[in-house]
Amino acid sequence: MSLSELNVIDFHSHFNHGSPLDPAETEIYKFGLDFLKKGYDYANISSVGFSTYAGVLSNKEVAEENDYLYNLALDTPWIYQWVVIEPRHEETFEQAKKMLDSPKCLGLKIHSPCHEYSIAEYADKIFSFADERGAVVLMHPDRMELMPEYADRYKNMKLVIAHLGTVDHVNAIETAKYGNIYTDTSGVASSNNNILEYAISRIGTDRILFGTDTYAAGFQRGRIEYAPIPEQDKIKILRENAITLCPQLKNA
Ligand SMILES: [Zn+2]
Repeated sequence: MSLSELNVIDFHSHFNHGSPLDPAETEIYKFGLDFLKKGYDYANISSVGFSTYAGVLSNKEVAEENDYLYNLALDTPWIYQWVVIEPRHEETFEQAKKMLDSPKCLGLKIHSPCHEYSIAEYADKIFSFADERGAVVLMHPDRMELMPEYADRYKNMKLVIAHLGTVDHVNAIETAKYGNIYTDTSGVASSNNNILEYAISRIGTDRILFGTDTYAAGFQRGRIEYAPIPEQDKIKILRENAITLCPQLKNA
């Protein structure tokens, strides 16, 4: 099989679905599910872990957004869910207790900058909850220098600091004593022409996951597929690492 035939897993994306909280689309940047699916099909990306834009960019209707995506994922084979935690909304923890048991839920998603809370203030609450359940937490980067200490304290949690694009990401991954910090390549910062290669030189390939974060799917896939790294590393990043971290993706 050639690399281009590999069914890739997008670990991190979002979409609009007609909520009043959806971000505005433009002619040159679109977020509808049908539009995104076309890009995924052309780039041979077979499965995607989503949180809705309305659920992460605003904290007004997080629980409603979680319910919506939980049901959509159960009904749609290629769609997987990140259940969003808003640490000041107790009902989102209650939802997560149930949703983490779903075969379509990959873990917890947090976005402290858009939800406007201090990660240092709520980290123990969120990460202890994840630790008790051995859950994966996909976090928007925030106070990365603090994360190794939390990862060491809550060593059953697996913490993915999204958007690989800084030396701080690599430092955090390298510093975590138990190897339970990861990153994803979603977003335009991975277009820095040595960031992926630099990260691999320091922390290897096993803790790097592929994502698009809604950016052009072929562009994001190409960043990995044509990188000057061994083919086995590409396969790990584009697919296998996601399955190791979230075994429910095995048939994705
Ligand atoms: Zn995102």
